[in-house]
Amino acid sequence: MARVGFIGLGNMGGGMAANLAKKGHDVRAFDLSADALERAKAAGCLTVASAAEAVEGAEAVVTMLPAGRHVEQVYAESLGGAAPSTILIDCSTIDVATARRLADDAAARGVAAVDAPVSGGIAAAEAGTLTFMVGGSAESFERAKPFLEDMGKAVIHAGASGAGQAAKLCNNLILGSTMIATCEAFVLAQRLGLDPQTFFDISGQATGQSWSMTSYCPVPGVGPASPADRDYQGGFAGALMLKDLNLALAAAQDVDAQVPMGTRARELYQAFADAGQGGLDFSGIIRMLDGKAG
Ligand code: NAD
Repeated sequence: MARVGFIGLGNMGGGMAANLAKKGHDVRAFDLSADALERAKAAGCLTVASAAEAVEGAEAVVTMLPAGRHVEQVYAESLGGAAPSTILIDCSTIDVATARRLADDAAARGVAAVDAPVSGGIAAAEAGTLTFMVGGSAESFERAKPFLEDMGKAVIHAGASGAGQAAKLCNNLILGSTMIATCEAFVLAQRLGLDPQTFFDISGQATGQSWSMTSYCPVPGVGPASPADRDYQGGFAGALMLKDLNLALAAAQDVDAQVPMGTRARELYQAFADAGQGGLDFSGIIRMLDGKAG
């Protein structure tokens, strides 16, 4: 088992670090939040006082931070402590260009790095069943893989540096649109007199089925446990979905790709955030579509 530095112990990172500790790794965990540190300690991690301390002597360093600027800051503060034997694994969802730049900067110091964003949500982070899409050289992928396997059910090499982020942005372009489509269908179904559970039972087995419906249903009390059952607290913040849609749209503009559904989804998540709801789980946009918020 290895010493692993883990930086960013929020909704996702908390469960991921706990799984590495459960697998017997010596996890040195850091977050700016005292509550997050407490939870990591209770889950078997050794908490440390800085990102630099988490990196020192680590065989692998996992970062799970909100956006590219946070990863850049943490790497700038701590990369000096990384050794050629350290593999840097950034699991945050960030833009492709920053991911490539961070990997290049690390390589210039003789340190290997991969981008390894995840799909699956907090339930999968806790259960250790995430899907990782990895960008980096074949050698770096092989070094990162055993650590990712301890946190996930699927670890896929997407291609060179930045390819993991490209796959993630395209995936979330689908997710943002299917969540909104699912929410508006539930609102309409209810107004047409259909019971939400009945509509779920039908559409969940019909062509309207998607992960947004059957794994993460936006209606409380319907489907498996999801943030809807906790008043849309926790989960994947609407503000983070807006971030991902902005990244996807910027990437689409760079390569002249048409993304009309993603563009509309971005407008709606922007309205959700402007209404002060961006801290809620992204499925909470059903309230806005139902005229109950924002
Ligand atoms: P979160 O906001 O819950 O957690 C981020 C954590 O990073 C927080 O605990 C915060 O205190 C910490 N942090 C910020 N700056 C820091 C710094 N400089 N040093 C140390 N800690 C710092 O976010 P999350 O939901 O866990 O998401 C993390 C990443 O994973 C994002 O990029 C998100 O887009 C992506 N993601 C989230 C989900 C989800 O369902 N929540 C799913 C897939 C991908």
